[in-house]
Order: sequence, then structure tokens, then C-alpha cells
Amino acid sequence: MTDLTVDLAMALLEKKEISALELTQAALTGIEEVDGRLRAFITVTREQALAAAAAVDARRRSGEKLNPLAGIPMALKDNICTRGILTTCGSRILYNFVPPYDAAVTELLREAGAILLGKTNLDEFAMGSSTENSGFFVTRNPWDPERVPGGSSGGSAAAVAAGEAMFALGSDTGGSIRQPAAYCGVVGLKPTYGRVSRFGLVAFASSLDQIGPFTKDVRDCALVLNAIAVHDPRDSTSAHMPAPDYTTFLDGEVKGMRIGVPREYLAAGIEEGVKEAVLGALKVLASLGAEVEEISLPHTDYGIPAYYLVATAEASSNLARYDGVQYGLRAESANLTDMYKKTRSQGFGDEVKRRIMLGTYSLSSGYYDAYYLKALKVRTLIRQDFHRAFASYHCIATPTTPGVAFKIGAIADPLTMYMNDVCTIAVNLAGLPALSMPCGFSGGLPVGLQLIGKPFDEGTILRVAFAYEQNRGPNHVRPRISVRGGAFS
Ligand code: GLN
Repeated sequence: MTDLTVDLAMALLEKKEISALELTQAALTGIEEVDGRLRAFITVTREQALAAAAAVDARRRSGEKLNPLAGIPMALKDNICTRGILTTCGSRILYNFVPPYDAAVTELLREAGAILLGKTNLDEFAMGSSTENSGFFVTRNPWDPERVPGGSSGGSAAAVAAGEAMFALGSDTGGSIRQPAAYCGVVGLKPTYGRVSRFGLVAFASSLDQIGPFTKDVRDCALVLNAIAVHDPRDSTSAHMPAPDYTTFLDGEVKGMRIGVPREYLAAGIEEGVKEAVLGALKVLASLGAEVEEISLPHTDYGIPAYYLVATAEASSNLARYDGVQYGLRAESANLTDMYKKTRSQGFGDEVKRRIMLGTYSLSSGYYDAYYLKALKVRTLIRQDFHRAFASYHCIATPTTPGVAFKIGAIADPLTMYMNDVCTIAVNLAGLPALSMPCGFSGGLPVGLQLIGKPFDEGTILRVAFAYEQNRGPNHVRPRISVRGGAFS
């Protein structure tokens, strides 16, 4: 049953052909069946899920008009706060943290009646591109268990790809939704900065972080976005803008639409098989009447360096709160200063420490102007590149990643790891919406097509994505690790 898309399951639930309880039981059985191998979940909330599903069924029986997501089993990345449920952020420093409140998205999904199955694994504090930086364990890629699922939202991506959860939420600071979506062969959307509330998302880099959905297809992506794109006064950057019904954009029409393909994103360093799959997808869009043209985003090369200054500066400040005093790990010690030091040295992993040091350095007096301020200026140039392109194009298409999922342990050098995000990072610096969707395979592993939109124009990228999805031909290949029947039909 979890083989279904949200859209199909919704229809069956409404017709009472299946119940939320049956669906949730099926999902939990699926998790039992495959998660021992996949390890997508840090916490499974079995009892709560069953109780919530029974409650939704009762509401439906009483004739109440329910939200489309009512009764749909889903998962949340473990940096999204859930009241009364462990939220570790993939870090030993929060190994025992049980939030006293829900994140805005948790609240919205709970009110909608979506059923929380559990919390998914991630790179510690969402810092990474492979989920290997989790403080607990590595998640496997459902297509090849020897490979990474991508990161940092690797658990959410793997859970949806393997059919454990019908949808999941992740967070994307520099690519953490789109890159794992590409590696796991699912749809992942990073909304415009400000479209989805960050209230209750454990902060990594506040000016870049954004929550978004992982789904099996584009329609489901629109459905989930409908539920979470809501203004929230508790997040001062949350947009005061009503969201449209995103499913109204899914009409298959791309005739006359202008799609820009930045040459910098197909340059050296992009794997041949990835390039081929992406160019194939662009051909399909052109055959549907879209005008696909080469463009240039000249500051692309500066994206990674600017991001690793801005993101680490913000992280060094955000992570100052983990000191053993208020929550999480506390290393016992004779005096306060020692307690701080021991707690942070034992609680944080290497990558987190590296970033705190880098961020603290670039914010320190004498270096602030040379590094942090310079990075902010570059950020403006990158934003202007996109702005200029969007004066003539409706959306921009690129590969999501330079390659396909790599082997666990294959990338030991952090700088090489950072290159995984060359195609996704500029989008966060510019605050734009972008979606990754499967567009074929390279060496048997999924390839992602990235569609980037104007600010608050998620509708257009969903329209283009849907048109491509409807016309790319059937995809019968299933991941190796998946709940009986696989995730795709
Ligand atoms: N891989 C990037 C990083 O390590 C992006 C992570 C993210 O989007 N959360 O910072």
C-alpha cells in the first residue's frame, strides 16, 4: 500500500477503500522489513502513529471534511522539532533532547492529520552531503546499499525512495533536500526562502535554511507544499504572502515557456552520464514546445567559497547555545568553563567543530571585512546573476549534482565533499525555489534534474516538472532495497 502516491492513497482513503490505520500499519511493517538494512530512521514512533491513524479514521467516519493529507504516513528529518519526541539533529550533543514544542511544519502536518512515522537520520546539524556525518550511523542508498543516500537529509530521501514513508520533510541550506533527492531518485523541493516557516527547525545557517518535501512524484510535491506554505508570525522571515493552490499549476503546459540552461553548470566536472540524462530531459521539454536556451550565470564559481563563509559564520553563532547548560549532553566537570569545553568537545563531531572554527575565524575582528563581508558581497553578485536571467527566462534548468551517489567512505577530504553542492548552493545564497526530480540513470543510479524558479514562483517549476514527468516515459526500475513491490509503479 505504501507503494501508492499520496494522491492515490488520498483518493482511496476518501472512498473508505482503505483506512488510515491499515495504511499506517503497512508503513510500519515496511519499516520493520527494510530499515534494518537501510537505517533511514533514528526514531520510529509506532504507538503514536497507530493512535493518530485511528483518530483520523474516527474523524472520517463521523463525516468530518478532512485535509487531503489526513491519514498519510510520513517522516520528518530529525532536526525538525516534535513535541515529546526525541529530536537529535544527528548529534551526540542532543542525544537526549525531547523538545517541549512542535516546529511550525510539525504542527501544520499534525493538524492536517498526516501520520508521523518517525524521525530520519541526517548529517550532524545538517552539515554534510552523504549522511556519513551523522553522530549515530550511516544511512544506505536504496539503489545500492554500498553507496550514500546523499545528505544532509539522507534519511528522509531514502525513506521515501524505499517506500517506507509516503512523503517526508527535509531541510536545505545548500542542497540538502535536492542532492539526496537526486541520489535516491525522488522529487525534492527547496521552497523560496521565507515560504515555509523555520520555527522549530534547529538552526544551522539561518539566512539559508529552508524546509521542504520529498515525494515520489511532482503532484505529491505540490500537495505537501500546499500544507506547509503558510505564514507564521513566529518566524520573522516568514513571507506575508498567501500561497496559491500549487496543484493548479499541474496542467502539462510548457509551450512558449523559456528555460535557461547556464553553461557554467554543464562545464567540466559534470559526469558524462549525468550530462546526458539532463540533456535528454531538456529535449523532452523542448519537444513539448518550451524554448530551451543556453545562458550564463558568471559568478557561479564563487558559490562554494561564499557559502562556506556565510554558512559557517552563521553556524558558529547558532551552535553557541549547545554548552551543556540548558539541554542535551553535559559532561560533568569541576568548574563551568571546563564543563563547556568538555561538553562541546565530546558532543560535536569533527565536521561541526571544523565549521565552528572556520565561522568564528571569519567573524573575528581583522578578518570580518576580508572574509565574511566579502562573501556577503559575492552573495549579492550571485543573486544578481539570477535576477538578470529571470528577466528573460521563466525558469532555469541544471543537473542537481555533478555525479551520482558515491560509495560510502569514498570521499574522505571535506573540500571534495563540498563540491557535491556546486549545482545547488547558489540557489540558497539567492533565496530561490528549486526542485530536483529523477531524469534517468547513469550507471544504474538515479540522476537529478534541477529546476530553479523566481522567488515565490514554485508554481512555474512545478508546472515544468509535471510536464516533463508526464512525458518522460514509464520508469519501471525500482530501488534494490524497498518495501515489498518497491516504491515506484
Ligand atoms: N552539503 C552542504 C553543507 O554541508 C549543504 C547542507 C545542507 O543543505 N544542509 O553545508
